[in-house]
Amino acid sequence: MQLLRPSDVPAPGSELSVLLVDDGDDTASDALAEGLPDCAVARRRALDEAERVLAAGGVDAVVVDPALPGCTGLQAVAALRARWPELPLVVLAPGGSTTARSAMALGAQDVVAPQADGRSLATAVQHAVDRARFDQATTRYEGVARSLLDAVESPTCAVDGDGVVVAVNAAWRRFALANGADLAACGEGADYLELCEEAAASDEDARAVARGLADVLSRHRARFERAYRCPGPASDDCWYSVRITPLHGMAGAVITHVDITALKRAEDSAHHLALHDGLTGLPNRLLLGDRLEQALSEAHRHGRVVAVAFVDLDRFKRINDTLGHAAGDAVLVAVAERMSRRLRAGDTLARVSGDEFVAVWRDVDGEAEVESLAARLEDGLREPLVVEGVPLTVTASLGVVVGRPPQTGAELLAAADAAMYDAKARGRARRRHYGPDLEARAVDRTETSAALQAALERDEIVLHYQPVVDLTTGAVVAVEALVRWEHPERGLLGPASFLPVAETTGLVVPLGQQVLRMACAEAARWPGGPGVGLDVHVNLSVRQVSHPDVVRTVREALEGAGLPAARLVIDVTESAVMEDAAAARSALHDLAQLGARIAVDDFGTGSTSLQHLTRYPVGSLKVDRSFVQGIGRNPDDEAIVTSVVGLAHAVGARCVGEGVETREQAAVLRLRGCELAQGNLFSPPVPVSELADALDASRAAAQPLVVPGLAADLPPSPEVMAQIRSLHAGGASLHTIAAALNRTGASHPSGLRWHARAVARVLADVVEGGALAGLPRPRDYTSRQTASANDQSP
Ligand code: C2E
Ligand code: CA
Repeated sequence: MQLLRPSDVPAPGSELSVLLVDDGDDTASDALAEGLPDCAVARRRALDEAERVLAAGGVDAVVVDPALPGCTGLQAVAALRARWPELPLVVLAPGGSTTARSAMALGAQDVVAPQADGRSLATAVQHAVDRARFDQATTRYEGVARSLLDAVESPTCAVDGDGVVVAVNAAWRRFALANGADLAACGEGADYLELCEEAAASDEDARAVARGLADVLSRHRARFERAYRCPGPASDDCWYSVRITPLHGMAGAVITHVDITALKRAEDSAHHLALHDGLTGLPNRLLLGDRLEQALSEAHRHGRVVAVAFVDLDRFKRINDTLGHAAGDAVLVAVAERMSRRLRAGDTLARVSGDEFVAVWRDVDGEAEVESLAARLEDGLREPLVVEGVPLTVTASLGVVVGRPPQTGAELLAAADAAMYDAKARGRARRRHYGPDLEARAVDRTETSAALQAALERDEIVLHYQPVVDLTTGAVVAVEALVRWEHPERGLLGPASFLPVAETTGLVVPLGQQVLRMACAEAARWPGGPGVGLDVHVNLSVRQVSHPDVVRTVREALEGAGLPAARLVIDVTESAVMEDAAAARSALHDLAQLGARIAVDDFGTGSTSLQHLTRYPVGSLKVDRSFVQGIGRNPDDEAIVTSVVGLAHAVGARCVGEGVETREQAAVLRLRGCELAQGNLFSPPVPVSELADALDASRAAAQPLVVPGLAADLPPSPEVMAQIRSLHAGGASLHTIAAALNRTGASHPSGLRWHARAVARVLADVVEGGALAGLPRPRDYTSRQTASANDQSP
């Protein structure tokens, strides 16, 4: 930085313009001319004359005899200094005289004897010029340094090598004042090191700062920094960072206290965000793990137990789908809040994924207390809920487990998860406690992985098969292969007890390959031989579908077994399709290319739209069994069944009703246009040795359902319905409407061509208002059945 402008004081070695103010003889004048031969020297004999010359400018230095006419003592020196404070000034006075000392005190840069020779005088003038230049630089530098210091918004001070404050900035003074500190005690001259050392006894931060400052002053460390919470009254709850850096080129240090409160708060909130769920504000999985381990170790110390509940909202996706995501969020927040209120202080409720929560009760007495704590949680869930003006019933499936050390948090969560899974499988909206029965089936996750690996090698993995029947013909058209583990100690295990572990460990991939190989080989052996036998459904998990080798695996399984691809149906869950849409789409297209067909499993639980569905090569949609089981009990479920059937037909797929247990469910499914069904009504999944009997039983169970001609009464798709309505409104005759429908290729649910009578039947429904939703009214059902029994044409 250029602190001195060159014009102010001449640079060393330049030609000077010197003014001599002296009314005595010519000694000084001659000496000057001799000593500074290259310089311009002007002489004035009176002060006022000299001042006029100076006022005109251009003078670099003045040599003055203090005893001028009209002046007493050093008046001339004082007057010149007052008007030109930075002017290089040499006073003619005997060395060591009082005059000489006074002149220096008044600000002269140098003093030289009146009789001095040219050389001495020249040296004095040059010295005065240098000195003035230096003083000016120092003054400027101080000014700049002060301004810089004051411009720093953080309280800042400089201390010398002993830790004594030599300068403080304005912010330092303001800070001291605001906090009621005595500036004398902490301002310039205060011993900062001592202040810190005094406070060190009771304050850990002060102790660290004292050590840090001493280290920087002794150059043992290049800088020191420490964040601390400021105790001062004006900065309560404020955070500062004290930074100590050494002074350049001299002993000492600069100490700055930077306000980092905003940063600290941002940091805290980032920390909070990392450990909490953004929507509900509840702890997330990470923090849950922490709390759970903490609760377990506490319980261990006090000889108590910890209880964990895994809470999964039932069919939450339906709320999202029907009311929108904002409403879904509102439900999650409300549910979180209700459950939180039912916990005791110190218990934890975490949101671990979309609609899954985990409650941790610490310090519990035993099973009886867990029972009442879980019941309270359920009470919270039962509180009436109104979202966007719509009253909602939210139910959840709960899995509860009581844990004692040395169980780990992960083990408890796995057990609670397994119990919850079981509650779901038993029809949702219930609580299941993890007990010996589940324990016997659900295998410890950590063991499972290794054991499952061994099971694959030891052929303990077997398949059971469940028939799929055609609801209109009563024929068995396919079987679904369902994996089982013949556990040497625990007996036959269902997929619920080991698939989740296989999913998380990646073992599901080799397991799935084995299932595929076995199912294809088995299907190739069935009666009729390849090509005329039954189709076989094989389930593929998300992980399998998104595995890069999936197509090769399927192809190899088919080729190895000699099974035509057309007989293989790949079941993927709706959530798998949704989860990794891009990867799933390309894999499914490749599989379809191979000739296999795709069935979307558990349909209705997710949020797949028609538009989304059209991007997949879907051969069938399988209505989730929870909806099928709601038939006759829950109108919402029936409406969903209808819409899944509509969706399937809209994308040219067939519909399969899953989990059919009653004749009523089968009849309603068929009436809604669902072509296929599977479930215990026909046959539960059976080992291959029992498959022949199961097939017979399924056909037998399906026969009474087949009413000749009933297909004629199946409601057409909503699109066809709309077409019929609009043609009818336009005055077209029944024959014209039928012909128009056949021309556009709008198929009749029976698969036959449209006929005037079929159109009439549909219109009769529309006119009566019975089939606006595409359904006959219940009371018409029986009469229609009898009527259509005699009428096989549409
Ligand atoms: P899913 O594909 O929905 O299979 C149908 C499940 O419903 C089977 O359970 C079956 O036993 C059960 N089920 C059949 N009829 C009825 C009924 O009338 N009532 C009731 N309540 N349940 C019935 P399972 O065998 O326990 O399989 C459960 C799930 O595990 C399957 O659901 C499927 O998603 C998965 N899974 C089964 N085998 C495999 C496999 O080899 N690979 C993969 N990735 N997943 C599999
Ligand atoms: Ca399936």
